[in-house]
Amino acid sequence: MIQRGDKMEYIKLCEIYEDLEKNSSRLKKAEILSEFLQKIKHSKNKDIIYLIQGKVFPDYSEKEFGISEQLCIKALAKSSGVSPKEITQKWKKLGDLGKVAEEVMTKKKQGTLFSHKLTTDKVLKNLQRLPDLVGRGTVDKKLSLISELLTSASGIEAKYIIRTLLGQLRIGVASGTIRDSIVETCFKEKTKENIFAVQDSYDKITDFALVFEKACKGIKELQSTALVPGNPLKAMLALKAESVEDAFKKVGKPAIFEYKYDGFRMMINKNKKGEIKIFTRRLDNVTNQFPDVVKYVKEHVKAKSFILDSEAVGYDRKTKKYKPFQDISQRIRRKHHIEELVKKLPIEVNVFDILYYEGKALLNEPFEKRTKLLRKIIKNRKYHLKTAHQLITSDVKKAEKFYKEALDDNQEGVMIKNMESEYRPGSRVGHMLKLKPAENELDLVITAAEYGKGKRVGAFASFTLSCYDEKSKTFKEIGKSSGLKEKSELGLSFTELTKKLKPLIIKEHGRIAQIKPKIVVTILYQNIQRSPTYNSGFGLRFPRIIQLRPDRHAQDAATLKEVVDDYKRHELKIHY
Ligand code: ATP
Repeated sequence: MIQRGDKMEYIKLCEIYEDLEKNSSRLKKAEILSEFLQKIKHSKNKDIIYLIQGKVFPDYSEKEFGISEQLCIKALAKSSGVSPKEITQKWKKLGDLGKVAEEVMTKKKQGTLFSHKLTTDKVLKNLQRLPDLVGRGTVDKKLSLISELLTSASGIEAKYIIRTLLGQLRIGVASGTIRDSIVETCFKEKTKENIFAVQDSYDKITDFALVFEKACKGIKELQSTALVPGNPLKAMLALKAESVEDAFKKVGKPAIFEYKYDGFRMMINKNKKGEIKIFTRRLDNVTNQFPDVVKYVKEHVKAKSFILDSEAVGYDRKTKKYKPFQDISQRIRRKHHIEELVKKLPIEVNVFDILYYEGKALLNEPFEKRTKLLRKIIKNRKYHLKTAHQLITSDVKKAEKFYKEALDDNQEGVMIKNMESEYRPGSRVGHMLKLKPAENELDLVITAAEYGKGKRVGAFASFTLSCYDEKSKTFKEIGKSSGLKEKSELGLSFTELTKKLKPLIIKEHGRIAQIKPKIVVTILYQNIQRSPTYNSGFGLRFPRIIQLRPDRHAQDAATLKEVVDDYKRHELKIHY
C-alpha cells in the first residue's frame, strides 16, 4: 500500500535508507530516491526530505541536536534494559553506535509483542524539539524524547534514529542526488533547464522541502523562487585568472577590478522588520558574534531591507594595517566574551555586492548597476563598513598597478568582474575571477590522525589530509602533516586540534583514528608528486598546516582536479 508522507511508517523510510546504503551508484541512488519522493509528492508536509538528508531542519538552519554519544548510550540503556557498560563495549567492537542500537533493540523486541508503530512524523516531531531545550533538566528531557522513540523502535529503526542524532546517517546521499531525484519525480524529462531550475531555487532558499514543494507545482513556481532576507542563500564563487591580460580576455573590457580582501565572507541580511542577520559562506548564522557589524550596518547602510555580500577583514587598531585571515578567524567561533574580542580583533566590512533591495531581488540586474546602487546607499566609513575599493578600467597597466597596490595593502590580490553579469547563487562562475600570486597553498580536510608518542601520548601528532574528488564524491588522501607545536596562540597546536578531532572519530585501528571529514585546514607545501602511498595517486611534499578554516565545509576543500592542475603547473615550472 502506498503511504502518504504525513502518515508514513518510519520503517518504510528505514528500508529506503538500507537500499541507499547498499547501492553506491549515484544513478541508482537517484532512482531509489525518486521512487520514494513519488510517494510523498502529495503529502502536505514535505519535511520528510530532511530525514533523507539526515537532518530535521532545512540546510540553512543552525539548530543542532546537541546530543553526545554518551547520551545516546544512556537512552539506549534506558530503552533496552542493557547496561551502559555493555553497550559501550559493543560500541568499541562495532565502531558504530547505530549498529549497536540495532543489535540491542532487535534482541529486546524478540519474543515481546511489538505492536506500536513509529511514524516519520513522530520521529521528526521529537527530534525537532531537541535543539530548543535549554536550562535546567535539559538532559533528562532530551533523554526522554529519545527514549520514547527508541522504545517504540525496531532494531533497524533504532539504528537510523541513533545515526541521525549523531549526524552520521552514512547513506551517501549528496545534495546533487536529491536535486536529480526531485527533477525525476516532478518532470517528465531530465533536461538542463529543469535541473538548473531546481538547483537555482535551492541555491536561493537552501531548503529542499520547500524546493520539492515548488517543483511539484511546476517549473514556473520554481523559477519564481523569491529571496527571503534572513534566510541565507549560497554565495557565488570565482574562477582563477592567470594574469591581468588573461582576466580581460575572459571578462571583457572595461572590467571592474576590486581588492580581494583577505578575510572571510559575510552575507548581511536585513528584513522589513529591521532584523539584521549575518551568515558565513557555510550558511552559519554568526550574528551574535558580530555586534560591531550589526551596529555598522545600522549606521552606514541606508535602506529598509537588503542582502549584501561582503568580506570582513581584520586590522591592527594601532598601526591600522590589515591583518591576514588567520588572525581574526577566532571571531567566527567565539560564543562568549564577545565584546572583549570585538575590541581585541576589530574588523572592517568591505561590501562588494547587493542581491536584494527594498523588497526586490537584484540577481538578474547587471553587476554595474548593483555596484552603483551600493555606492548610493552606503556611507563609507573606513575601519567600520565601506564599499570594496574599486577600479573600472580597460587599461592593462592601470589594472596591474591596482593589483600591486592591493598586495602592498596586505590583501590577497584582486577580483575582476564583468560589468554586465548577473549574480548566480551557489555557482563558480567565469564572469567573476580572482587573481593572486601563485603560491603553494591548498585547503584540505583532515580524514585521519595518528596518536603521538612521548610528550604527545594521547594526542594526535600526525594528520592525514584529503582533497575532494568531485567525480566519486569522496575524499581522497594526498598527504600527512606533523610538526604542530604543543601550544600556540592561534589554536593551531596539536593539543587544540586533537580536541577538535576527537569527537569526530569514526574508528580506531591501533594508533590511527579515522576522522569524519569536517575540519578544513590551509596547507603550505613544497610541491606535488605522483604517489602510490595515497589513494588520490598524488602526494604533497612537506605539507605544513598553517591555519584552520572554520568557515569552510569539507566539500569546499580543494578538489582532486585542482590538485592535478597544480601538479601539472609545477611540472611545467620544473621543465621551463
Ligand atoms: P580563495 O581561497 O582564493 O580565497 P575562495 O575559495 O575563498 O578562494 P572564491 O570564490 O574562489 O573563494 O574567491 C573569491 C573569494 O574572495 C570570495 O569567496 C570572498 O570571500 C573573497 N573576496 C574578497 N574580496 C572580494 C571582492 N571584492 N569580491 C568578491 N569576493 C571577494
